[in-house]
Amino acid sequence: MSGVGGADALTIAAIADAQVQAARPAGPGVTVWLTGLSGAGKSTISYALADRLREEGRAVEVLDGDELREALSPGLGFSRADRDAHVGRVGYLARLLARNGVVALVPVIAPYEQTRAAVRAGHAADGTAYLEVHVATPVDECARRDVKGLYAKHAAGQISSLTGVDDPYEAPAEPDLRLDTTGSDLGADVETVYQMLSERGLL
Ligand code: ADP
Repeated sequence: MSGVGGADALTIAAIADAQVQAARPAGPGVTVWLTGLSGAGKSTISYALADRLREEGRAVEVLDGDELREALSPGLGFSRADRDAHVGRVGYLARLLARNGVVALVPVIAPYEQTRAAVRAGHAADGTAYLEVHVATPVDECARRDVKGLYAKHAAGQISSLTGVDDPYEAPAEPDLRLDTTGSDLGADVETVYQMLSERGLL
């Protein structure tokens, strides 16, 4: 007979418990917001760091700017009000993830100091760790890379309101970390962010 007897039930309970343990994040949650111009290196660093943290068993989510814009903010453009609304939504989502043990990596330009400060304050309100990395690659280098072709489109007069060109970028005065990726090694930059998390006791 294949019914679940006492011993079988105990085995099933032990397996279920092990699965719950395995699914539990291995460390405290944190939001790491990577702010900087388009092409600065925010996404590249985020995805590489995410791979490393996942290998170590951490629950990680990369809240990517372009993907999230489609999912959370369809219809919003690039006025200050629209940018602020989008950053606020992403910040709230990151906060929910981080306070549940996830490492939320956010490679989103977030050009305005006041809006970034509001996201930071939201995290502080429920005691959730929040770190800001300014990926401070200068606009000339970002334009040389022109990963998405935005700088060329702007030069050709096809788009406007490009952050750092004809739209404001308010650089953080006191980020937790500042990285200029001009000529730098991706692995070394990822290591620097990783070390910051480690030093703060977040790994
Ligand atoms: P962002 O997310 O800031 O818009 P991306 O990460 O999409 O920028 O693009 C950055 C580009 O710069 C990529 O093509 C990447 O390969 C290149 N790059 C060169 N060196 C680095 C570095 N040290 N860190 C991150 N990206 C780098």
